[in-house]
Amino acid sequence: MIYTIKTKRPQEFIDVTGMISDAVSKSSVQNGIAAIFVPHTTAGITINENADPNVVRDILNSLNKTYPVEGDYMHSEGNSHAHIKASLMGSSCMVLIRDGSLVLGTWQGIYFCEFDGPRNRKLFVKIIKD
Ligand code: ZN
Repeated sequence: MIYTIKTKRPQEFIDVTGMISDAVSKSSVQNGIAAIFVPHTTAGITINENADPNVVRDILNSLNKTYPVEGDYMHSEGNSHAHIKASLMGSSCMVLIRDGSLVLGTWQGIYFCEFDGPRNRKLFVKIIKD
């Protein structure tokens, strides 16, 4: 499945847990793996706390302190900070499926990470049966 994500801000974390859960439900797979892939060099995917929204705010703020938008970069496109952040978050993640549900900790959510938006982004999801 390929999903389109319309990001609204230059940098933001978008909770896509529901989207991935829907993909699992639609597949009818009870046990297996959800493979999630972001085909972009300035966006990523990560799993972290979705209970307190300040957690992802703090992650983004800390990334911006360490890798500011304006910095001593050589890349002519002017978005090196976004490339660096995307690499740190990673371009894929894998979540186990058990009894038809994603295996996530109580406080875990799956986040699409935009670092050079707003843009139309793609998110690939493959549900693999055991
Ligand atoms: Zn670039």
